Amino acid sequence: MLMDSHAHVQTRQFDKDRDAVIQAAFDAGVARILVPGIEVETSRSAVELAACYPGRIFAAVGVHPHDATEFTPDTLTDLRKLAKEPGVVAIGETGLDYYRNLSPHETQRASLMAQIDLTRELDLPIILHNRESHADMIALLKEHGAGVHGVFHCFIGDQAMARDALDLGFYLSFAGPLTYPANETLREVAAWAPEDRILIETDSPYLTPPPHRGKRNEPKLVALVAQKLAEARNVSLERIAEVTTQNAATLFRLPAAPAPEE
Ligand SMILES: [Zn+2]
Ligand SMILES: [Zn+2]
Repeated sequence: MLMDSHAHVQTRQFDKDRDAVIQAAFDAGVARILVPGIEVETSRSAVELAACYPGRIFAAVGVHPHDATEFTPDTLTDLRKLAKEPGVVAIGETGLDYYRNLSPHETQRASLMAQIDLTRELDLPIILHNRESHADMIALLKEHGAGVHGVFHCFIGDQAMARDALDLGFYLSFAGPLTYPANETLREVAAWAPEDRILIETDSPYLTPPPHRGKRNEPKLVALVAQKLAEARNVSLERIAEVTTQNAATLFRLPAAPAPEE
């Protein structure tokens, strides 16, 4: 069994065939999917989706750095309320993105800090998005993140950057970029990372692995990330499936075995 630890299947890109996509993932052995919010609306729809598939789909609620300008005190109230719903296992995704810069850096940092405080208040892990913002992210976590743990989702970086995240107690989640031919450095990091700190994800509908690039990504394709991770680490696919599913269960405090499928 595999777990896709990060897939936005609640978004409009899946409105026409959401249940079929989810069923295809289950049929392909992806027994669990974690669905992170991007802003309040997609956090709410993630919670609603988790309620439809108890024990198999889990939700995270949060505001993405792209949407940080929309983060207000009301947003925090909404997220706090949503986070107490069944099936919610994390705050996220949140973080910093200095690549697309869709919100000013200072606004992104303020939104992230508010969500870090929320994870501490609610004792939940946090799902971090970190793009071209590594130094600020690590500094901010060192200053404001005491006691907070979670995952660097779609980790992209070198061994020193991975070390920074691991030293702060975070997990590393590998996504489609692990499968891209040019990313040899990332595969070296994936080969080296401690076995008890690695996760896999698709970040659907984005970051589609080859040979499907150019098409919408979906959770069943997490198997291609698992396969690449197995090759990089020179272990079996079964081993990768086992450890990444167990690591996700540990981090997000999921039940040990998924609910049996009807
Ligand atoms: Zn992200
Ligand atoms: Zn995402």
